[in-house]
Amino acid sequence: MSTTDSTRTDLSPELAKEKERIKADSLHRGSPNECEGEAPLRVMALHALLYCERLFYLEEVEEIRVADAAVYAGRRLHVEVAAPDDETPEQRSLEVSSDRWGLFGKVDAVRRRDGAWVAIEHKRGRCRRDDSGHPQAWPSDRIQAVAYAVLLEEGLAEPVPQARIRYHADGVTAFVEIDEAARRELDAAVQRARELRRSTQRPPVAENENLCPRCSLAPVCLPEEERLAQQVDSGEHEPPRLFPSRREEQTLHIVSPRAHLGRSGAALLLTNEDEKQKIPIEQLDSVVVHGYGQVSTQAIHLCAQHGVAVQWFTMGGKFAAGIACSPGRVQQRIRQYTGLADPAMRLDLARRLVEAKIDTQRRYVLRASRAEVAYRAWCRPRLEQMLTVLGDVPKAESVASLLGLEGTAARAYFDCLRVLIDAATAKELRPDGRNRRPPRDRFNCLLSFGYALLQSLIHRTILTVGLEPALGFYHQPRTAAPPLVLDLMELFRTLLWDIPLIGSVNRGQWNTVDDFNVTPGQVWLSDAGRRKAIGLFEQRLTESYRHPHTGQSLSYSRIVELETRLLEKEWTGCPGLFARLRLR
Ligand code: SF4
Repeated sequence: MSTTDSTRTDLSPELAKEKERIKADSLHRGSPNECEGEAPLRVMALHALLYCERLFYLEEVEEIRVADAAVYAGRRLHVEVAAPDDETPEQRSLEVSSDRWGLFGKVDAVRRRDGAWVAIEHKRGRCRRDDSGHPQAWPSDRIQAVAYAVLLEEGLAEPVPQARIRYHADGVTAFVEIDEAARRELDAAVQRARELRRSTQRPPVAENENLCPRCSLAPVCLPEEERLAQQVDSGEHEPPRLFPSRREEQTLHIVSPRAHLGRSGAALLLTNEDEKQKIPIEQLDSVVVHGYGQVSTQAIHLCAQHGVAVQWFTMGGKFAAGIACSPGRVQQRIRQYTGLADPAMRLDLARRLVEAKIDTQRRYVLRASRAEVAYRAWCRPRLEQMLTVLGDVPKAESVASLLGLEGTAARAYFDCLRVLIDAATAKELRPDGRNRRPPRDRFNCLLSFGYALLQSLIHRTILTVGLEPALGFYHQPRTAAPPLVLDLMELFRTLLWDIPLIGSVNRGQWNTVDDFNVTPGQVWLSDAGRRKAIGLFEQRLTESYRHPHTGQSLSYSRIVELETRLLEKEWTGCPGLFARLRLR
């Protein structure tokens, strides 16, 4: 800890006695080696602990930190707090630490009052009130203030008998006495924090649901989805609103082989022929290079620093390589390995995934064929076949039999797609069953390219959530695509690509000549075709969908993230929420 000796003054007899106590206390409490081997804790972590143990665990053990608007506002407040209102010596933003307590942090201000030091904290919000309306500190603010005062006391070897918390929203100050009871509270909090750090289990969501709307980690923790799961069982239903409904950043797609992506300060600079476009890095969540556009090392560094994924695809839409800053949280991965090592859990998840996929396909065909009697007549036996398969899925005893059932349903589904294309559509664009690697007709070329875009989105999302893409539960690790990516894609193929694609074909948006490059045995998208397909996919991601479990309207890009997080809940204490997604 650092401070300036020039601000010290002589102590009163009471404070001098207290100083002796601090020395004795220091000897009695033992050596710094008491916490040897354990990483020191941030004092802010104790604030999180007293707010909600799950918040502490997510931040300190899983290292998930989200700076939301409130956090930023708090930071600004610390910068903007008013200058001292008198001549009292004051130090701002003072670093304090103690090996003995295993704590470190930065106290907002330290001031001399009545011959003793006082630790001062600034808070944006309102204070708590006791029964007579007197201002009180909230428990999480109180433990933080106590910790700073105790660390300050140890560093100065002088008493710090009081801490003060200034609540700016209602302009009052709460006083916290630093007595034996306060020290015992601090000791208990430190012990509990260490206990939780050693645990591999996430604590449950806070019982007090009023805490969650102000918690920056609500979009990761998904407390309402867990509570809703219990409420649904008890018949109550209140749609949650804590998961953000829309995606805030964009994906930059680079399609032209002549494009060059460089760096200009804190922005990416896209140069294409004579055109230059500057894109602030905070507006992006990913960069996708289709074909042979160039990305400079400086641009890659900037992306890596800001957690922006960069992915390269071949001209034909095949994933070639990618970098993504996965948090790689060890505890999170251990839980995923442990959960998915259980064959029963893998089979259960695979059954639910296949059921969701076939049910969505079937619902789509039912909806799209209802207006035309002849179409429905063509689809009817295939729909019946899909229904029969759906009935067999929950009874499947192995992943191999699920793959067989999924294949049967897929053949029936792709057979139905023939009649869902408008009769006026050029025959070159009409589907005739599924073919790929390479696609041999225009429709399959479009399907494959859209699925590649979907694959890249899901891969990035899995890494953002912090899961291991290589460890899935349904697909086998046989191809270059990571199994968990392939697993999650099954939920979204129809919703995110088949439906908008068929709509665009029926609206006559594709030019059979300009949008495709046709060679013997293979069809590719031209530059113009790729741009159209990317536009269609990105547009779909912004459209809203009412999630059947949460009841919340979310953009499709958020739905992908939500389902990935719900999947993780299968092995983190709240199973049964994944793959309830269906087309309405
Ligand atoms: S969202 Fe609620 S339950 Fe989750 S960490 Fe925050 S306060 Fe705790």
